[in-house]
Amino acid sequence: MKLSKLMKNKMMTTVGIFGMLIVMTSSAQIKKDNWYEVNEHLFKNVNSDHFNVFYIPDSLIEVNVNSLIEKREKSYQQISDFLNLKTDKKINLYLFPSEQLKFNITGHRGYGWGIENRIVEVYNDSIQLDHYHELAHILIYEINEPPAMLDEGLAVYFSEKFGENSLVSLFGYPNKTINDVLRILRAKEEVISIHSLYELKDISDAENVIMAYLQSASLVKYLVENFEKEKFLKLVSVSSKEDYQYNIHIYSEIYNHNLKTLEVNWLNWLNSN
Ligand SMILES: [Zn+2]
Repeated sequence: MKLSKLMKNKMMTTVGIFGMLIVMTSSAQIKKDNWYEVNEHLFKNVNSDHFNVFYIPDSLIEVNVNSLIEKREKSYQQISDFLNLKTDKKINLYLFPSEQLKFNITGHRGYGWGIENRIVEVYNDSIQLDHYHELAHILIYEINEPPAMLDEGLAVYFSEKFGENSLVSLFGYPNKTINDVLRILRAKEEVISIHSLYELKDISDAENVIMAYLQSASLVKYLVENFEKEKFLKLVSVSSKEDYQYNIHIYSEIYNHNLKTLEVNWLNWLNSN
């Protein structure tokens, strides 16, 4: 689940915003698997209830690390409450003052990523990542690993719901909602069919990745805000990452309507919300 290089390049050239880039990657893409053990001596460490924060000593990080931990603890609580999740999962958060240093030590390019119980981020004056997105993935996986539409949709939705909306800012619309931006994009681009979107195993497999992120988030918002939340949580907990036919079946069983009906009703709702 990562923003592909293609998309990153597209965003940097067309949007030109450097900031809260959200990248999730698979272990196969991490060049130095045990970088955090080999380089343990380079990091200072601060702990909280749910975070072990490791950072390269740097004045800006030193000044801000405690307020950052406080914000992450709040995000952890908000996401867990939403998911009805009881967990003591502790997350190792690694902070680097520059992308170059992060690359030198981890072998991984980009501003950040999250995998298993580790989140790795660049933190400096111009780059500060979303407090919710990667954390959302890690906590969602405590329940299940759902298909990309639900997984990424929920991660982006949390940012808007809890007041950050960073992905929408990243796409160049800092003061707009997810639905605002979708309505703007729809004037010039096709929305993705629900079947195609739901079938994606990885959001970066979409032909239009920006549309896929926003549409997934809008669909999650629609389902959460128009039906009992318990239905949505059930969908997240039982959907399969791999078995699309099963997902079609289970969606209809939980919501008593099929994906085509969802598509029609969601588009009507999008036009008025
Ligand atoms: Zn993601």
